[in-house]
Amino acid sequence: MECIFCKIADRKMPAKIIYDKNGVIAFHDIAPQAPTHVVVIPKKHIATLNDLTGEDVEVAGRLVLAAKELAAQLGLADQGYRLVLNCNNDGGQTVFHIHCHVLGGRRMMWPPG
Ligand code: AMP
Ligand code: ZN
Repeated sequence: MECIFCKIADRKMPAKIIYDKNGVIAFHDIAPQAPTHVVVIPKKHIATLNDLTGEDVEVAGRLVLAAKELAAQLGLADQGYRLVLNCNNDGGQTVFHIHCHVLGGRRMMWPPG
């Protein structure tokens, strides 16, 4: 098994896991880009957003709901935060297991870099 996020989900690689519910886990990003930076992943291995199918409606929904729940849990909800899903090269994807970044604790810029 090559996928590092699958390894984290299987507890075969260490991570600061802060959420594990409904087939979704979340952990602190190893290279945070904001004061709060959490990565939210489905336990199911799906390489990129391009690989999502109609069968993954529940997975995708759970992912977004978990991100929202985490934002509240981390105290970001009122001030605001950003969810990011990168896809492939131009999107800046480096780990090929879909994930949602929850970024907060500072003002985000638009357009993004
Ligand atoms: P992306 O560039 O959208 O594919 O995001 C991958 C994210 O995973 C990056 O923000 C990395 O810093 C983060 N990351 C990579 N390896 C680990 C790890 N072992 N534990 C926690 N976060 C990681
Ligand atoms: Zn995986």
